[in-house]
Amino acid sequence: MNKYQEALDRLVKHSCPQRTSCNECDMKGYCNRIAKDWIDVLQELVDKATPKKPAFNEDWRDEETTSIYDEDGFINPVVCVCPNCGKNAICVSEYGNYYKCCHECGQAIDWSEE
Ligand SMILES: [Zn+2]
Repeated sequence: MNKYQEALDRLVKHSCPQRTSCNECDMKGYCNRIAKDWIDVLQELVDKATPKKPAFNEDWRDEETTSIYDEDGFINPVVCVCPNCGKNAICVSEYGNYYKCCHECGQAIDWSEE
């Protein structure tokens, strides 16, 4: 878990009158709605700052191309799109440059091979 997520989780606990998880508060109707709305905004930002693997662009799907990995297990940037907004704004494939963040929505991208 990264530092942002940890800070947010603590904030959730401290903003909650029951000092429990927000899901439980939601169910029982305890939650401070105003705090919850801002926590949701922060969660969105934390999610964007947490690197995610690129998503597969379904336009490229055929018998041989079924995932972002090529036959040797390397990521093929040509078939990758942003996992958050689905746009092709995470690499310049003809130059072999990968962006650390999506240019459309700011989602951090994890280009590491598995
Ligand atoms: Zn994006």
